Amino acid sequence: MAREQDDLQRRGIGMTSQRTRERLIQRLYEEGLSNAQVLEVIRRTPRHLFVDEALAHRAYEDTALPIGHNQTISQPYMVGRMTELLLAAGPLDKVLEIGTGSGYQTAVLAQLVERVFSVERIQGLQDRAKERLAELKLRNVVFRWGDGWEGWNALGPYNGIIVTAAAAEVPQALLDQLAPGGRLVIPVGAGDLQQLQLIVREEQGFSRHLLDMVRFVPLLQGPAV
Ligand code: SAH
Repeated sequence: MAREQDDLQRRGIGMTSQRTRERLIQRLYEEGLSNAQVLEVIRRTPRHLFVDEALAHRAYEDTALPIGHNQTISQPYMVGRMTELLLAAGPLDKVLEIGTGSGYQTAVLAQLVERVFSVERIQGLQDRAKERLAELKLRNVVFRWGDGWEGWNALGPYNGIIVTAAAAEVPQALLDQLAPGGRLVIPVGAGDLQQLQLIVREEQGFSRHLLDMVRFVPLLQGPAV
C-alpha cells in the first residue's frame, strides 16, 4: 500500500513537471525567446536533474537556484537568451563555456552545437556536472578544471564562447581564442548588475554590442583549491 502511494505520488510529480515544463516554455516564448530549436532543447532537458532533490519541485520555475559552493544554476530565460545570441549567425561547431556549474547550460549547448569545451574552477561542481551529462548520454563535451580567465588555449580557437559568470572586464585570453567571425557572449561588470555583451571577431578587430542588464555570480580568479 505504501509503495502504491509512493508510485502514485511519483507519477503525480511527473505529470506536474510535464505541465510545469510546458508552462516554462510558454513563458520563455512570451518573454521574447524566439529560436524554436533552443526552446525545444530547453523543453526536453530535465532541469530537475541539475539541482538538489530538495529543490527539484522548483526546477521549472524561471529562476536561478542554489547548487552549493555559493553558486547558482542559471535562470532558464538567461540560458535561452545567451544560447540564442551565440547561435544567431548560424550553427557552431566549437564552443567554449566558462563556468560549468551544474552543467545545465552545458547540456543545452551540447544538443545544439557540435562540440562543447567547458571550464570550471570548482572540482566538486565539475564532477557532478560530468556525471549528469553522462547520464543524459551527451558525449560531445569535454571538461577542464581550471581558471576561465585563461580560456582553454590548447583546443582553440572557438566559433563561440559563452561565459556564465560576470567578469569585471572582458578576459583578453577569450578574445584571443575567438576564431574569425566567432562570437563571445559575456556578462561584464563588477557590481550586482552587469551588462550582457556580444563581442564578434570581425576581419579587423572586434565589434561589441551592449545588451541587457543581468545578474550573475562573479568570475573569480584562479581555480579553487
Ligand atoms: N551555467 C551554470 C552557471 C553556474 S554559476 C549553470 O547553469 O549551472 C557560475 C559558475 O562559474 C560557477 O560554477 C563558478 O564556480 C564558475 N566560475 C567562477 N569563476 C570561474 C573561473 N575563473 N573559471 C572557471 N569557472 C568559474
